[in-house]
Amino acid sequence: MSEKPTILVTGGAGYIGSHAVLALKQAGYDVVVLDNLSYGHREIVEEILKVELIIGDTGDRALLDQLFASRAIAAVMHFAALIQVGESVKEPGKYYQNNVASTLTLLEAMQAASINKFVFSSTCATYGVPQFIPITEDHPQNPINPYGTTKWMVERMLLDFDKAHDFRSVYFRYFNAAGADPSGLLGEDHTPETHIIPLVLFAALGKRDSVSIFGTDYDTPDGTCVRDYIHVLDLAQAHVLGLEYLLKGGETAVFNLGNGNGFSVKEVIETAREVTGKPITAIEHPRREGDSPFLVGSSDRARKVLGWNPQYADLKQIIAHAWNWHQRRHG
Ligand code: UDP
Repeated sequence: MSEKPTILVTGGAGYIGSHAVLALKQAGYDVVVLDNLSYGHREIVEEILKVELIIGDTGDRALLDQLFASRAIAAVMHFAALIQVGESVKEPGKYYQNNVASTLTLLEAMQAASINKFVFSSTCATYGVPQFIPITEDHPQNPINPYGTTKWMVERMLLDFDKAHDFRSVYFRYFNAAGADPSGLLGEDHTPETHIIPLVLFAALGKRDSVSIFGTDYDTPDGTCVRDYIHVLDLAQAHVLGLEYLLKGGETAVFNLGNGNGFSVKEVIETAREVTGKPITAIEHPRREGDSPFLVGSSDRARKVLGWNPQYADLKQIIAHAWNWHQRRHG
């Protein structure tokens, strides 16, 4: 028996969730994963992470009640969500159902089971088009796509649960998660893949003919969108710190998680050419709906309050770790 408590990780078979499970295990926690495997990977949980996997939905109240009644869960980390900006514009109902309604069911089940510590994956997409850069946590939130709106709505629920029910949460507004565990055993593997770094690496592997650049007429230095790429291991570390902050009695709090450096889509593609040594063909396309031109954050609060100290700020290293994983998984 480990001395540290058991943590339920929803979406632990997915990209960021699986890296968080590994970080929790390395910090000595017992972990139970709840994942419906709609996007997650069973073998990652069973063969690599080697923790208990419960296959099911976060909106399944009966399953949650049974799970909480049969295990001593001290806190929940909630990663399970739909995450594609473009899809959320086309199919908003699916996003409100999954990201908002199912999360509310989870919160109610937690409340009924007197579990009152929650670590939540929110997003910089809740800010919308930035009014100032770098974006701090008190920047106004005006999400411009349903994905961002769903995450913003959950943030609001968490504040109300805090007031009414002695319910404490840490919610992280991630900038762009990227990279992979340097072991090459964990990494990003979405089907369909929509994120820029894996798509660029698929092109480098010859699994795609080219990569698309969505929009070259933005008001940015080279006309393409700028994002703040943050290594998934640094995100995972922040989750362990956020959990420990709550376990020590910390108040509900929000933290940005980013590097504070912006890279354009064209810079990402150029860096991937350098890292992989492959000539990656890029084709210019119109803008993708729902994209903010420029998202770069300040994470000073996470550094000060949580003692977060990101280790992998270099985009080349982030892409090199992702490349290592992609070659192993898809090469
Ligand atoms: N992007 C692109 N081509 C692609 C996928 C994404 O140009 O095939 C752009 C996208 O428009 C955005 C940036 O890359 O400006 C990052 O997109 P991603 O989907 O990776 O993350 P998001 O910022 O939407 O969370």
